[in-house]
Amino acid sequence: MLSYWEKTHFLKYDLIVIGAGIVGMSTAIQYKLKFPQSSIAILERGVFPFGASTKNAGFACFGSLTEILDDLNMMPEEEVLALVEKRYQGLLAIRKVFGDETLSYQDKGGFELITSQEVSALDQMNRINKLLMPLFGKDVFSVEKNIHHYGFGKDVLHIVRNKFEGELDTGKYILALWDKCQQLGIRLHTGAEVIRIDGQQIHVKEPLTNDVIQFEALKIAICTNAFAKRFFPELDITPGRGLVMVSTPMQNKIPWEGAFHYDKGYVYFRNVVGDRLLIGGGRNLDFEGERTETFEVNSLLRTYLEKLTRTIVFPDQKVDFEMEWTGIMAFGESKKPIIQRVSENIGVGVRLGGMGVAIGWQAGTELVDLL
Ligand SMILES: Cc1cc2nc3c(=O)[nH]c(=O)nc-3n(C[C@H](O)[C@H](O)[C@H](O)COP(=O)(O)OP(=O)(O)OC[C@H]3O[C@@H](n4cnc5c(N)ncnc54)[C@H](O)[C@@H]3O)c2cc1C
Repeated sequence: MLSYWEKTHFLKYDLIVIGAGIVGMSTAIQYKLKFPQSSIAILERGVFPFGASTKNAGFACFGSLTEILDDLNMMPEEEVLALVEKRYQGLLAIRKVFGDETLSYQDKGGFELITSQEVSALDQMNRINKLLMPLFGKDVFSVEKNIHHYGFGKDVLHIVRNKFEGELDTGKYILALWDKCQQLGIRLHTGAEVIRIDGQQIHVKEPLTNDVIQFEALKIAICTNAFAKRFFPELDITPGRGLVMVSTPMQNKIPWEGAFHYDKGYVYFRNVVGDRLLIGGGRNLDFEGERTETFEVNSLLRTYLEKLTRTIVFPDQKVDFEMEWTGIMAFGESKKPIIQRVSENIGVGVRLGGMGVAIGWQAGTELVDLL
């Protein structure tokens, strides 16, 4: 039962965005900048964004050497180049809009650990550097000369450096987006789970009473990523859960900095404030089990990441983990996000894969253009 005031002032907007992840907030912000007179609300089911955007590892990446080679096996060269360009330009865009200090952006480079499994990729490095030359104007990848000071396990035969990758503080990025929404007068409703969309009506479950509240918008942007099938079951979206673990502070200073990839990008690690190890991934160990929307921890993956820590990252050191969490990504047959209009007044911007930090803002730009 709504009051006169609620009915009069809270329910109607020019644009309603569903989902307050990177894409939802980027869409709302860019729509407002394009149409300053418009009224905009974001409806988010969580207490704060609760999908992938606050759960990720903060890698500002666009593809390691082996990931790009893998992509080339599946996609035409122009498509791979276009993807890399989009990701890199996306990273430059958020750095320009929010500033490196706000994002705690660190330009320390990306590194890929090469074992005997991936060693043949080194033969392709020059070819990939040539391919990427028009985008970067310089070689992107180089082989590190001395790898002993990293202290990695004996299986690591080489390390490939990517000089254009970096890292950011995921929490600060989301807060920067949130602050920008507030500055622009965009209303962010949290605890607002959308259960149905009927034309311009958006039905939201009120968490206290379980009543259904009807919002209304001239335009609707659906930015619910892995959870978009609820509204459009026909979309090619498969959820993919990701596990992240953070250690207690290490006794010895961590002898490296940067964003590290292992096993074709399925495992990633970096150091975080206070000399802690952040390590995540391993989804490829149990693709089927991780194809889920539930935020649980798969003990198989936990054990695997603990083992990699002991054998590869910090061989023979004692590492205790004090935090772990999972987030849900969205994948499909293609690595491209789905950004399309589904009707006159509804657009979707979903399926961001594992590089939404890089492409989320740009996905918002494209969705605004469509709307
Ligand atoms: C563990 C992990 C590590 C990652 N690491 C990296 C990384 O290092 N670098 C990188 O670039 N990318 C990384 N990613 C991927 C990146 O985080 C995502 O691609 C990106 O956050 C997707 O943003 P989004 O806004 O599309 O989706 P989301 O962040 O999932 O946002 C969707 C929002 O919609 C809300 N929602 C869903 N259904 C409803 C509903 N019915 N009503 C209202 N709200 C709803 C959800 O609560 C959520 O807040 C990682 C992801 C995970 C899970």
